[in-house]
Amino acid sequence: MSLNTKLYEGKAKILYPTEDNEVLLTVYKDDATAFNAQKKGQIHGKGAINCTITAALFQMLEQEGIATHYIDCPSPNQMRVKAVKIIPVEVVVRNIAAGSLCRQTGLSEGKLLPKPLVEYYLKDDDLGDPLLTRDRLFLLEIVTSEQLQILEEVALKINHHLQEFFTRCNITLVDFKLEFGIDAQNQILLADEISPDTCRLWDQTETDPEARVMDKDRFRKDLGDVESAYQRVQQRVLSVL
Ligand code: UDP
Repeated sequence: MSLNTKLYEGKAKILYPTEDNEVLLTVYKDDATAFNAQKKGQIHGKGAINCTITAALFQMLEQEGIATHYIDCPSPNQMRVKAVKIIPVEVVVRNIAAGSLCRQTGLSEGKLLPKPLVEYYLKDDDLGDPLLTRDRLFLLEIVTSEQLQILEEVALKINHHLQEFFTRCNITLVDFKLEFGIDAQNQILLADEISPDTCRLWDQTETDPEARVMDKDRFRKDLGDVESAYQRVQQRVLSVL
C-alpha cells in the first residue's frame, strides 16, 4: 500500500487513498494538540493506542447494530475505513458536567446530569468550533431535520453501549465527541475515532479528582503520566472484550 499521497493531514491522523475508491487508510499519530492547537506536544505510543481502542469500540458498536466506517487494522496505528463525506459537526454527549459545559454554564465539575445531554459544535477551527443551535444547523444546511433526528438517536444509543462497556472496565464515561459521515449509499456512518483523545474517562478505582483522569485532560492540564493513563485505558478495554 503506497503511503506517499496524503489525502488530508489532521491534528491526530493522516488520511491516505487506497487502490479502492471506497476505502481510505487512516494513520494515527502520536501528536497531541489542545485548546484549538494552541498547545502542541507528543504522547508517545498514542497513535497505536488510540487506533487499537477505536477499533475495539467500533467493533463492539457494530455488534450492537451501530453502522461505523471501520473495516480493519493492517497495523497497530493504521485503520482501513469506508470512505465517507464527514458531516462538519462534532456531536458531544455528556453524562457528567465537565469542560466547556462547566465553563459556559457554571455547573460544578462532576455533577451527574439528570439525563444525557447531546450537543452540536461546528467543526471549524478558525471559528473555534462554536456551539450550534438546532436552527443554526439548519440555517447552515449542515443536516436536514431527518438527519438530525438520526444523529441524536444514534448518539444516545452509542452512549448507552459505551457506558455499559466502560463500566465493565471500571471507568466512568463522563463525556465524548463523535463524528459522522455519509457513504456512497447515502447512509450515515459513525466515523473518526473514540479514544482517550475524544472522551473524558474517570478511573472508578481512584477518588482523587486528578488521579482519576485517564484521558486527554492529563495533557491539557499538565497532570503528568499521560502515556501510562492511555496505556491503562487500552489494557482495560482489551481485557473486557
Ligand atoms: N472533544 C473532542 N474534540 C474537540 C472538542 C471536544 O474530542 O474538538 C471532546 C473532549 O475530549 C470531551 C468532550 O468532547 O470529551 C467535550 O469537550 P468540551 O466541550 O467539554 O470541551 P473542552 O473542555 O475539551 O474544551
